[in-house]
Amino acid sequence: MISCQAAPPAVLPPTIIAPVTAVTSPTVVTPTTDPLTPTLEPTPAPALTPSPTDTTTPPITEKPAAIPPTKPSPTLPPTPTPDNLPQIIGTSYEGRPIYSYRFGSGPIPIVFVGGIHGGYEWNTILLAYQVMDYFTAQPYRIPANVTLFIIPVANPDGLFAVTQNEGRFLVADLAEDTFPGRFNGRNVDLNRNWDCQWSATAVWRNQPVSGGSQPFSEPESRALRDFFLETRPALVLFWHSAANGVFIAGCPETDGLSRQFAAIFGSASGYPVHERFAYYPITGDAGDWLSTQGIPSISVELKTHETLDWPENLVGILALLSHYNKQLQ
Ligand SMILES: [Zn+2]
Repeated sequence: MISCQAAPPAVLPPTIIAPVTAVTSPTVVTPTTDPLTPTLEPTPAPALTPSPTDTTTPPITEKPAAIPPTKPSPTLPPTPTPDNLPQIIGTSYEGRPIYSYRFGSGPIPIVFVGGIHGGYEWNTILLAYQVMDYFTAQPYRIPANVTLFIIPVANPDGLFAVTQNEGRFLVADLAEDTFPGRFNGRNVDLNRNWDCQWSATAVWRNQPVSGGSQPFSEPESRALRDFFLETRPALVLFWHSAANGVFIAGCPETDGLSRQFAAIFGSASGYPVHERFAYYPITGDAGDWLSTQGIPSISVELKTHETLDWPENLVGILALLSHYNKQLQ
């Protein structure tokens, strides 16, 4: 039920990392080639074009999916914007925009969130960008009944702290010490700031961290909260690193629907599924709060602080989408 961020002490990687060779694939895109460079200009609202029916999705190992059909949200699609152009859902404590990118236009919203722990978990941000690139190149892989929102950098202050960058970055841009990038510009842990078992003084590994002055004291948390409540996702997936596993949201009891999504993702990807984060107490967790709102959530903890775990995450994502694709058949 409780998800978090850091590996247990026994498997913690070195604090100082410079894994220049760990991520050298074309997935690290320079800003000059970024087709999704955010624009601050308001965009007109063109007519939405339904996604073409996916007829070429490769076979995915079918998982037992007892999840009931998701009712289309009456609020979707939200304010129409052209596919793949970002929406600014809020700003950070230091005033940096938080972007959401939309793929597809179906009635069932799903949200993926990277970088809530900023530059400390920078690999979750690069993974989110790689997922965006994948669906930009292959938009037909989004089922016609799904709209996928990707928020690649939920903590832009934390990313800036270690890259001096607000968006896409290179591994070579990273500071040697990524630790300060975990927090927002006010030194608050944004995954301790939500209204589930919240505490002002929270814990990360064996040290205290700030959960904020009250639940949702931070603008980043409020922006995400409001986006979730407006969008009413059928599922929210958070990426963290590096505890190697899928963690089920719940507050306090593990959420049943979240458990089923975790089973789908875990079975396809090979990540172990954990009922709860047991390494240290977690307060104010975002996914746990979502479960109090009837919104299922899982946290996917990457295996290390450097790898993207791309094959595992791609097959996990496609398994989740397959669940909705089957509802069309
Ligand atoms: Zn984390």
